[in-house]
Amino acid sequence: MRHNQHFEHLLKRHQLKRTEARLRVLELLVNKKTATSQPDLESVIADVDRVTLYRILNAFEEKGIIHKVFDLNGTANYAICSSDCDEHYHHDEHLHFNCTNCKNVYCLDEMDMPPIVLPAGFKLEKLSFSATGLCPKCANK
Ligand SMILES: [Zn+2]
Ligand SMILES: [Zn+2]
Ligand SMILES: [Zn+2]
Repeated sequence: MRHNQHFEHLLKRHQLKRTEARLRVLELLVNKKTATSQPDLESVIADVDRVTLYRILNAFEEKGIIHKVFDLNGTANYAICSSDCDEHYHHDEHLHFNCTNCKNVYCLDEMDMPPIVLPAGFKLEKLSFSATGLCPKCANK
């Protein structure tokens, strides 16, 4: 199978060894417009076993390639990070839109989020924005 050089480069940049399974997971996640759960990934790449897939997702998340977001059922979904993320810090403070109909989670990272200023004494570790409603596909039905 031929892979985009971009994906190999992405693995290299995050100090991950190039493996066929990693490249396939990466390609899948990059090409999806919505966040993807592990069971969804399992059904598409059935020949990569569950433990391997779990380790790949963990490594990607640790290295700042993907971030985790929970859907309305509480299932973890994974989405590609912006290029600003690395293993020390994730910058995924964009709005996550949960569609109540198709249950897809969208990363709306093209929107500007308002700056959040916390009251004195609070130390921020992670900020997340989420919205619930209908995605364009479901709203137009
Ligand atoms: Zn990230
Ligand atoms: Zn929808
Ligand atoms: Zn996201």
